[in-house]
Amino acid sequence: MTYVADLHLHSSYAMATSKELNFENLARWAGIKGIDLLASADFTHPMWFDETKARLHETGDGLLKLRDSPDSSVRFVLGTEVNCNGQQGGRNRRVHMLVFAPSLDVAERINASCSRHGILTGDGRPTLHLTPRELLELLLEIDERNFVIPAHVWTPWFGIYGSKSGFDSLEECFGDLADRVYAIETGLSSDPAMNWGVSELNDRSIVSFSDAHSLPKMGRELTVFDGEPSYDGLLRSLKNQGIAYTVEFFPEEGKYHNSGHRKCGVSLTPAEVGEVGDRCPVCARLMTHGVAYRMAALTSREVKTWTDEDGFTRGEPARPPFKSLVGLQQIIAESLGRGVNTKGVMDRYLDIVGEFGGELATLLEAPPSDLTRTAGQRIAEGIGRVRRGDVSIEPGYDGKFGRVSVWPDE
Ligand SMILES: [Zn+2]
Ligand SMILES: [Zn+2]
Repeated sequence: MTYVADLHLHSSYAMATSKELNFENLARWAGIKGIDLLASADFTHPMWFDETKARLHETGDGLLKLRDSPDSSVRFVLGTEVNCNGQQGGRNRRVHMLVFAPSLDVAERINASCSRHGILTGDGRPTLHLTPRELLELLLEIDERNFVIPAHVWTPWFGIYGSKSGFDSLEECFGDLADRVYAIETGLSSDPAMNWGVSELNDRSIVSFSDAHSLPKMGRELTVFDGEPSYDGLLRSLKNQGIAYTVEFFPEEGKYHNSGHRKCGVSLTPAEVGEVGDRCPVCARLMTHGVAYRMAALTSREVKTWTDEDGFTRGEPARPPFKSLVGLQQIIAESLGRGVNTKGVMDRYLDIVGEFGGELATLLEAPPSDLTRTAGQRIAEGIGRVRRGDVSIEPGYDGKFGRVSVWPDE
């Protein structure tokens, strides 16, 4: 059985997030997007945790559902993100970790322990003065079924493989507990194929989630799990790469794909860095090394990849495939020549996804003739281009998002 999951989300209590991120809206937008399982987000925050207990009820399989909407089929798993800030190997490390718990009672105990290592009442994504290994040890002592997923592993500042404060391997980071880490999150700046060359990831799951800070961004990356939709089923899928496929950004679109220096407008590929070195060719300061550069440093083998007839990228030896997509709101905005956040685009978006049973089904499965009839020639053509990967991309660098265009010449 497959189910669609977005397990990296935030509440309105996390820094720089939308006020509209409450449970009712999360569930409503899960329906619009076509997502079955969401992270409950930010359970370390006392006020959001109170809301979690008031709004959700446990369904006996380690997951939760909305209390007041018996018709809603959306399920939640208790999941949060923390910033581990600790000394290891003589350096200060800052690494974001997704944390999951099998019950409200266990989450409560995690919160009590974590409150001794950091302030939980501020940011919904709290800073804990623990290394990732210390965090994992603390979690496993509370309950063996707790697990972590290192978040957006390649981002320079907060990724476990990041160039600024990360590690060279999960082994280096977690030591004797490394085999209790079953999965990593690619983040927006990398896709699974880029990770397939890292040998310690061979027998680990590579998952993708949205890290959305507002409702429309939910599901912009997601994972379709193959297995039983329960807490234990999810954990089993992560252990065994029980993944049907993931949906990805085009990795160049992420904020840290290339190396570079934003102030000077300098953006370089790994090969170009090889020629000019680590310093910005304009101002001579150290550049921020992006995901592509860092990944080239940690990749140990060539991976053969190809695109199958359905537009999924596959690799050898076999791994769960993935598909790179552009959000439907962006396709509509470009098709109509309107801003992505305008009411006209949103109205059109809701009409179209309502017709096809959610955004994911619209982008992946809707037949072209039906799309043309419902969405019009131009939007249907835009979706067709995205399905074929026929888009143009300007890579992101040093905190600046990349740009994907469906109609680059217009
Ligand atoms: Zn993060
Ligand atoms: Zn510069």
